[in-house]
Amino acid sequence: MGLSEISERIAKAEADAGRASGSVTLIAVSKVQPNARVRSVLQAGHRSFGENKVQEAQGKWPGFAEEFDDIDLHLIGPLQSNKTRAAMELFNAIHSVDRPKLAKSIARLAQDIGHCPDLFIQVNTGEEPQKAGVLPGEADAFVSECRALDLPVRGLMCIPPLDEEPSLHFALLAKIAARNEVHGLSMGMSSDFERAIALGATHVRVGSAIFGERTPSGQA
Ligand SMILES: *Cc1c(COP(=O)(O)O)cnc(C)c1O
Repeated sequence: MGLSEISERIAKAEADAGRASGSVTLIAVSKVQPNARVRSVLQAGHRSFGENKVQEAQGKWPGFAEEFDDIDLHLIGPLQSNKTRAAMELFNAIHSVDRPKLAKSIARLAQDIGHCPDLFIQVNTGEEPQKAGVLPGEADAFVSECRALDLPVRGLMCIPPLDEEPSLHFALLAKIAARNEVHGLSMGMSSDFERAIALGATHVRVGSAIFGERTPSGQA
């Protein structure tokens, strides 16, 4: 299991960046991983996990929640409107708030349910047509719109283009966050989380480096 090695590397990256120890939350991305691997990370004491599909998470996490206390579950994949209520009931944080219609629906449901997960606004820093997220030029207005709805905007999130230096995207996201006084930065994955921490990440989303490669069928 790669959990202890990744935790050590995060601690070192925090120290190298002159940041407080423990200032970065490691979200262990458990999508498509066999339950046995997820359970061993839970047994090691880790509690923050990320899933990218509501339905997959619904099949997996209520069971773990009966076995383990204080699970902190993050939705890191796109959220379809018809799954918004389910997502708000299951997840502690949603990292993929990316459109006004979704923001309005979350605000309405928060009244109804009586609580709202922590929200991260996804920014499409690479302006890739196939990727979710608001464009960098729309981000300030969208942050304001979410705040006007009284939504708990905790941070910004990005997934850099595969073929570009991620640090440029991390720096751009950090700049947008700073000028909007947003404190959380969800950025950095298995291959680049140290660079993200150097640029201010508060949440890194690490999957394969902890659990091993994902297999499409979910079998090890
Ligand atoms: C799968 C996924 C990750 C984790 O990717 P790894 O390369 O396995 O660390 C991080 N963020 C998002 C949005 C993902 O979908």
